[in-house]
Amino acid sequence: MPVYKAPVEDTLFLLNDVFGIERYNNLPGFADASADVVEAVLGEGAKLCEEVLQPLNHSGDQEGCVRHSDGRVTTPKGFKEAHEAYAAGGWIGLAMDPEYGGQGLPYTLGAVMNEYASAANMAFAMYPGLTMGAMAALHVHGSDEQKRTYLPKMIEGKWSGTMNLTEPHCGTDLGLLKTKAVPNGDGSYGITGTKIFISAGEQDITENIIHLVLARIEGAPAGTKGISLFVVPRNKIGADGSVGANNGVSCGSIEHKMGIHGNATCVMNYEGAQGWLVGAENKGLNAMFVMMNEARLGVAIQGLAQSEVAYQNAVAYAKERLQGRALTGAKEPAKPADPIIVHPDVRRTLMSIRAFNEAARAFVLWNALKSDVAHRSGDAAERQAADDQLGLMTPVLKGVLTDVGFDNAVKAQQMFGGHGYIAETGVEQFVRDARIAMIYEGANGVQAMDLVGRKLGRDGGRAIMGFFNEVGGFLKDNAEDEALKPLLGPLQVSLGHLQQAAMWFMNNALARPDNAGAGATDFMHLLGLVSLGYMWAKMAKAAQEKLKAGADGAAERMNAKLVTARFFMERTLPETAVHLARITAGADTTMALSAEQF
Ligand SMILES: Cc1cc2nc3c(=O)[nH]c(=O)nc-3n(C[C@H](O)[C@H](O)[C@H](O)COP(=O)(O)OP(=O)(O)OC[C@H]3O[C@@H](n4cnc5c(N)ncnc54)[C@H](O)[C@@H]3O)c2cc1C
Repeated sequence: MPVYKAPVEDTLFLLNDVFGIERYNNLPGFADASADVVEAVLGEGAKLCEEVLQPLNHSGDQEGCVRHSDGRVTTPKGFKEAHEAYAAGGWIGLAMDPEYGGQGLPYTLGAVMNEYASAANMAFAMYPGLTMGAMAALHVHGSDEQKRTYLPKMIEGKWSGTMNLTEPHCGTDLGLLKTKAVPNGDGSYGITGTKIFISAGEQDITENIIHLVLARIEGAPAGTKGISLFVVPRNKIGADGSVGANNGVSCGSIEHKMGIHGNATCVMNYEGAQGWLVGAENKGLNAMFVMMNEARLGVAIQGLAQSEVAYQNAVAYAKERLQGRALTGAKEPAKPADPIIVHPDVRRTLMSIRAFNEAARAFVLWNALKSDVAHRSGDAAERQAADDQLGLMTPVLKGVLTDVGFDNAVKAQQMFGGHGYIAETGVEQFVRDARIAMIYEGANGVQAMDLVGRKLGRDGGRAIMGFFNEVGGFLKDNAEDEALKPLLGPLQVSLGHLQQAAMWFMNNALARPDNAGAGATDFMHLLGLVSLGYMWAKMAKAAQEKLKAGADGAAERMNAKLVTARFFMERTLPETAVHLARITAGADTTMALSAEQF
């Protein structure tokens, strides 16, 4: 059976030694998150994930969700109780506004818990995850009454949240959506339409489900400019907060799908369901973006999480499985063969996953801290700079962490040989679960287009220039550090590749947009690699400083960090050259054939 241990020590190293979380003590909620509190909170979270969520992962996958003839949907055995434990631990409201019952702790800690929960049981973690996303949108764009009505119950875990965008004929292109909203004359609207692929659209975990639904008010302009956001409870809510009769919302069917079997993916029918506008008329996409951006970071974390759990299981197997002898002579002569971890090709695979995971965790936390600054800082310039970075990096996090997360799940599966292909070992589940993260919340090709088409040039390229300056500044400030030199040289080269690629787009994509489209995915991965390289440089610097200071028993871990940093710089980062070559090849051969020639 698969194993999982939450990487608490690694998280604490990042928060305390690399990013110095105490520097953020001026932000609301951070002063309450002292080093001791953070350690205790993460320890509790890890325990819940390891002892409650992880044991339900394989059984939940095997059992799946069931839709009954009366439209009810049941989730796998144990999910309801696990959700109660999750809510009782305060995890749903961890970072939410205390005015509505939340704990107001940093969002960054919520991101950490999301990693642990998604690694332990991704299908389960999506239930509270979607509730948190829906709460974020209501908190920013909802009226006071909406916040008072919904947030406390959602924080308590009594009600859940969902996001309803997709329709049968519209996924990426939301301008095509048809679900309509007709004013009822009392300030509410009658919502009618069909949404598909709605995660957690129906379930037996909470007593009510609060759907956030994109719809078009009668007479609204065509395209994305005519879309509004509505809050539509599955069951009507009395003035005293009691849950009443069904509100014209039903689950027509659930999908039979490749992975995340424990999470119900529903066709949702709205038949004159009573809904209320969230935010301004025709500004629904803007309001939904709060949820979508939070969800994109959440999905990025799913990529890391599946990569991490797959890695942990591959390592455990590689230490046990006896096949062949080490090239340098038997390592365990008393045994019939050596464990496969002695083989360089197995090491190469494990090291490449490890080097990604540790940097990806840093990349997530670096940006989660920016999210806290963007939402909580009192300094407008600081908020703006953090928001710039978050906007630039959100598609990179989503696209790169899920693309590589899936590749890594496959690599980890490979370590099991034929046993990895057999359901019993549980490792193939990681591959199946990881796959969806590349698709939903905006398919990765579309993330790449968002990056190159919108984010790169926004405000005269202010965000990417900020990133160039930050990495360039780090390289300059540490240029004399002999120990860091072997790491900083490759980072300098790759930063150069990134700058050349950005310049190439400026010179070649404005007149010919296909050049941007054909190079977008490569650019997203190029920026991702440089970001991960920068994370490694920062981690290596912190590890060295910790070693110099005595390392408090962490010397072995810190030395391993330095080795893994070198591995990344030598063997992963050079891929930036390939991405640059592909980008500068332009769109000619990509677009030359006619559609009929395919
Ligand atoms: C298990 C699961 C759970 C989901 N959960 C939810 C949910 O909770 N709520 C919700 O609203 N939706 C949900 N979705 C829907 C999901 O977000 C969409 O499937 C996704 O956004 C892609 O839309 P689509 O399937 O219509 O693909 P399409 O939009 O048809 O895209 C097909 C392909 O074309 C590419 N493409 C499309 N347009 C462009 C373009 N302009 N440039 C470049 N490439 C392009 C895409 O990258 C993709 O590879 C879920 C889907 C699944 C499978």
